[in-house]
Amino acid sequence: MSFTLAIVGRPNVGKSTLFNRLVGKRLALVDDQPGVTRDLREGAAKLADLRFTVIDTAGLEEITDDSLQGRMRRLTERAVDMADICLFMIDARVGVTPSDLVFADILRKRSANVILAANKAEGKAGEAGVLEAYSLGLGEPISMSAEHGEGLHDLYTALLPLADQFAERAEEDAPETDVDLSEEEAEDPDAIPMPTKTKPLQVAVVGRPNAGKSTLINQILGEDRLLTGPEAGITRDAISLRIDWNGVPMRIFDTAGMRKKAKVQEKLEKLSVSDGLRAVKFAEVVVVLLDAEIPFEQQDLRIADLAEREGRAVVIAVNKWDIEEDRQAKLKALKESFERLLPQLRGAPLITVSAKTGRGLDRLHDAIMRAYEVWNRRVSTAQLNRWLSGMMEAHPPPAPQGKRIKLRYMTQAKTRPPGFVVMCSHPDKVPESYSRYLVNNLRIDFDMPGTPIRLWMRGQN
Ligand code: GDP
Ligand code: GDP
Repeated sequence: MSFTLAIVGRPNVGKSTLFNRLVGKRLALVDDQPGVTRDLREGAAKLADLRFTVIDTAGLEEITDDSLQGRMRRLTERAVDMADICLFMIDARVGVTPSDLVFADILRKRSANVILAANKAEGKAGEAGVLEAYSLGLGEPISMSAEHGEGLHDLYTALLPLADQFAERAEEDAPETDVDLSEEEAEDPDAIPMPTKTKPLQVAVVGRPNAGKSTLINQILGEDRLLTGPEAGITRDAISLRIDWNGVPMRIFDTAGMRKKAKVQEKLEKLSVSDGLRAVKFAEVVVVLLDAEIPFEQQDLRIADLAEREGRAVVIAVNKWDIEEDRQAKLKALKESFERLLPQLRGAPLITVSAKTGRGLDRLHDAIMRAYEVWNRRVSTAQLNRWLSGMMEAHPPPAPQGKRIKLRYMTQAKTRPPGFVVMCSHPDKVPESYSRYLVNNLRIDFDMPGTPIRLWMRGQN
C-alpha cells in the first residue's frame, strides 16, 4: 500500500531539508545503483503511521531560466513520472517566482496528485508568500517550515486521502481482503470531516510529568475497552493508540505514560517536554492536562503556547479535581490565571476532571469534539462581509498620517484552524490592536472558542 512522493521545486526552497526530515537516517542513495541519475535521491520516508518512498531532486545549482528549460525540467519530469504524488515546494519568504510558474506548469500537465507547500513559513515573514501561493491554482498551500519541523501535520493530513487511494487500489488487486472502506464519504468541501476508522481524530494529551496523563488515558481505555492495541506511533519515541471513545474513532498520542508502561528507562522530565512538542505537531486537538495543585507552570504555558502557534485546537483539562476542597474558589482562580497567562488562547474550554475517578471525562470528550468542530468551521463570505461592515461602523479603522485605512472585503482562506484574509488599503499600517479587535470579535460573534484564529491583512495587487 506504499506510494512514492517526489519533492519538486526550484533550488534552495528547502526540498533537501524536508527530504532529510522525512527520511532521517533511512537513506538509500540512488547514485549507488547503476543506471540511475545521480541527481535524484531516494529514501524510505516515515511520517506518523505512513511509510512511503520519497524522491528529492537534489544537487541542482541555482541556474538561469534558460537552462531551466533543459536539465532542471528533464530532471523534474523524471521525478514526477516516477512518483504517485508530487509535493511542489515554493519559498514563502520569496513568494511566487517565474521559475515556480514553470514548475507549476509541468505539474499541472503531468501529475494527477499535487500537494502545494509554501516552505520557510515560520514566523511572520512567510505569510504573504503563503497567500500568494494560492495564485498557482494548485489548491490550498500547506504552510510549513521544513527546518523547524512545522506543518508536518498538515502534510500528513494532505497525504492521507491520497495514500488511502493507493491503499484502495491495492485492495482492488487483492479482492479477498475483508477491510471495509465503504464508510468513506463523498467529499463535500464545506462539511466538517468527521473522524472515521481510517482517519481517526488525532488527539495529543500533553502536560508536565505526574499531571496524570497515563491515568487519564487508562481511564478512557477502561471506559470503552475498545483498544485495538498500542501501535508504534508517529516517530521513534512517541506512541499513539487507537480507541473509540464514546463511539468516535480517535488516535491518542500519549507521551510519558505509555512509555512508563513499556518500561523504557529514561528520565521523565526529559521525555515529556520534547515528546510533548512532537505530539503537538501531529495532533488536531491538544489536551493540555494540568495538575490542579500546580497549574499553569512554565512547562504548561510553553506547550499551550506552542499548540496555539502550531494552530491546533486546544482544550485545557485540570486534573485531580477529586482532591480539591474549595472547588468554587479554585475554579475562579484558575480562570483568572488562564486569562492572564494565556491570552492567546482566550475562549478555550477549561474542564475539570479526575482521571482517577473518571469524573468529568464525558465533558472532556464533548469539549474535544466541539473544539475540533470549531477548528474546522467555515464562515460564508457574505456573512463575513456583513459582519465586517458592522465592525467598521462600531469602531472605524485608524487614519495613520491622515490616510484612512479602507477595509474592502473579507473572506475565509482556510480552516484547521480558521484563517481569514481582509483586503485593504495600506495593509502594513493596520495596527496590531485593530487586528486583535477583529479577531476577538470574530471569535465571539461566530462562536469559535478553543481554536486559534489567523487573520491576514492584504493589499490589492
Ligand atoms: P533545496 O535546494 O530545495 O534542496 O533546498 P535546501 O533544503 O538545500 O535548503 C536551502 C536553504 O534553505 C538552506 O540554507 C536551508 O537551511 C534553508 N531552509 C530550508 N528549510 C527552511 C525553513 O523551513 N525555514 C528557513 N528559514 N530556511 C529553510
Ligand atoms: P503522568 O506522568 O502525567 O503520566 O502522570 P500519572 O498518570 O503517572 O499520574 C501521576 C500521579 O498522579 C499518580 O500517582 C496518579 O495516581 C496520580 N493521579 C493521576 N490522576 C489523578 C487524579 O485524578 N486524582 C488524584 N488524586 N491523583 C491522580
